[in-house]
Amino acid sequence: MTDLKSLTLSELEALMAQLGQPKFRAAQIFSRLAAGVTDLDELTALPKSLRAQLGESCCINSLQCLRKQVSGRDGTVKYLWELTDGNAVETVLMRYEHGNSVCISTQVGCRQGCAFCASTIGGLVRNLTAGEMLDEVIFTQLDSGVKISNIVLMGIGEPLDNYDNVLKFLSLVNSPQGMNIGMRHITLSTCGRLEEMRRLAEEKLQLTLAVSMHACDDETRSRLMPSNRRCGVEPLVAACAEYFEKTGRRVTLEYAMIDGVNDTPRHAESLARSAAKIGAHVNLIPLNHVEEQPLQPSGKAAMKRFCDILSSRGVNFTLRRSLGGDVDASCGQLRRRRETEQLKGGSNESLRHN
Ligand code: SAH
Repeated sequence: MTDLKSLTLSELEALMAQLGQPKFRAAQIFSRLAAGVTDLDELTALPKSLRAQLGESCCINSLQCLRKQVSGRDGTVKYLWELTDGNAVETVLMRYEHGNSVCISTQVGCRQGCAFCASTIGGLVRNLTAGEMLDEVIFTQLDSGVKISNIVLMGIGEPLDNYDNVLKFLSLVNSPQGMNIGMRHITLSTCGRLEEMRRLAEEKLQLTLAVSMHACDDETRSRLMPSNRRCGVEPLVAACAEYFEKTGRRVTLEYAMIDGVNDTPRHAESLARSAAKIGAHVNLIPLNHVEEQPLQPSGKAAMKRFCDILSSRGVNFTLRRSLGGDVDASCGQLRRRRETEQLKGGSNESLRHN
């Protein structure tokens, strides 16, 4: 069965031509799908015969809400969605003054093995399709009733590990006939896959590329992120410079501050040097503690000392608030909790409290 949600407008047009249908039918279907239609019978603008014809080889993917948690502190909403094959992924809706941002997952699980991240604990299960990623945005918007203006690909998974589907998703969500979310309102975060970063640079998209740095010396970074053992800090910083040169878009460096691990003055100096080389903006965030892992967020004094050094070196940085701390909002925490509860014999039913 072909999932209509994963087709671009031109692919839908080709399908209509194949079925002997006029071209305008494709745009009709495309915009209704972006509005959250879940059943072919809801495509009421189409003749019944076409709906029946489509039913023979096509379906419309959708997600079921397994769990929804609303933060009492900052209005952050976390969704746990069930995919058609029973797997689950998370989406987070964050409300800022400048707009509503949705953080989406790109894979079920992750194979990167970062020491601080909950998403990777059970390894990679599978890639998400373009349609499934689109559904995360569509259903978050529908359920919350809030207009989504920004997207960050910072949920479960490594987007550049699922390159083709992610690129297709970007084109779907950016389409003027669909959700029409501007590329400048989209941020893609990667642990730093060099080959795919080069490929992405060639696409010359206007999105923001964020690189999860977390340390700028190889010893610390390799300890935190196994991917650093294949490609060290220096080549990664060079790839960021190349990305900036090719696209004209500055790279953002993500830095989760971890107590006693990457928050000393030496680490700050090393981050300042790397950031200066590529004119990067740095996003600092205190680590979200993950139950299964021993790492803890940096203390206030260490964070202040770190920020003071960055300031004195002229680094452009933002110290982010950690949003949604009371709703397991960090990458992979809610999916992980569901797995642990299932292991303990909890049923899906007991998890539903939306
Ligand atoms: N795989 C991609 C995107 C997913 S992770 C990447 O590595 O960038 C999104 C961001 O959240 C990354 O910067 C990641 O390093 C960070 N992150 C993961 N777990 C975290 C935690 N427990 N606390 C703070 N940030 C975390």
